[in-house]
Amino acid sequence: MIAVVHHPDYVTEAPARSTYRWGKNGAIRDLLREHGDRIDWHEPDAMPLEWLEAAHDPDYVAEVLSAQVPREKERRTGFPITPSVARRAAVVPGGTYLAALLALERGFAANTAGGSHHALANTGAGYCIFNDLAIAAHRLVGEGRVDRVAVVDCDVHQGDGTAALTAGHPQIATYSIHAAKNFPVRKAQSTLDVALVDGIGDDEYLQTLEATLSSFLDAHRPDLILYQGGVDPFAGDRLGRLSLSEDGLVGRDRLIARLAVARTLPVACTVGGGYGDDVMAIAARHVRVILTLGAALAGADVAGAEQKGGAGVVAG
Ligand SMILES: [Zn+2]
Repeated sequence: MIAVVHHPDYVTEAPARSTYRWGKNGAIRDLLREHGDRIDWHEPDAMPLEWLEAAHDPDYVAEVLSAQVPREKERRTGFPITPSVARRAAVVPGGTYLAALLALERGFAANTAGGSHHALANTGAGYCIFNDLAIAAHRLVGEGRVDRVAVVDCDVHQGDGTAALTAGHPQIATYSIHAAKNFPVRKAQSTLDVALVDGIGDDEYLQTLEATLSSFLDAHRPDLILYQGGVDPFAGDRLGRLSLSEDGLVGRDRLIARLAVARTLPVACTVGGGYGDDVMAIAARHVRVILTLGAALAGADVAGAEQKGGAGVVAG
């Protein structure tokens, strides 16, 4: 069984003036439901305030939670923060955190949302409000669930927010492989950045990923990977600049699984980017990420990382 974390609040109405195409998370849920008894569903709690504030400026957290984000920040985010969007923003990081706890127990779990890697300390950006990856990483090490966590970001865009919100933390390492010329224009500094030229295809991508991620994992020896499995490196993606095929994306996720299994590393997967007019095709790519990793990792001998601090997994 593959542990999947989902919450009804992930699926919200599209706010007016939104340039983001909503509906992806509901489509991911529906496609996963077709896999019936392969999926073990879990519902997260909203992320507590103290952990939102561990990564973000408390004033910005208050602006979001009260749905009173200044227009300038809403423009940078890509949509207005309505009360339902604000509720969603608080529960998605809870989902990534729950997926991490489940992964520590079972080897793999996936959140059907998250991967909001552009969100910065005091503002949202690039369709991201709160940075679930950075928030979950801070909470996991803060609570002593793991000694070290690595955020592995394979979205076509750099994980600039995650890098900024975890910079200098000795227990959190960040890896980002992305198209150099893509958003954001001004990059942050991850622990390891792998910047690719435009148009790279499957073979070159997979060779580069394997070489750089292997040495990154060996250098930082994390207890858990938080994976940003964006599908926008796909050749047909509206906002991508790379040329991975559908098979290339599957190859990427098989490689992630292989590197994790070789190091007995649990993986918690988030969704990340994927853009275009065909929401079902994009959702299907995200589902393929979850099923590819789940097939290789769920129940594999990578779980059972020593539970520290005596707190067990809270499975919803
Ligand atoms: Zn992206």
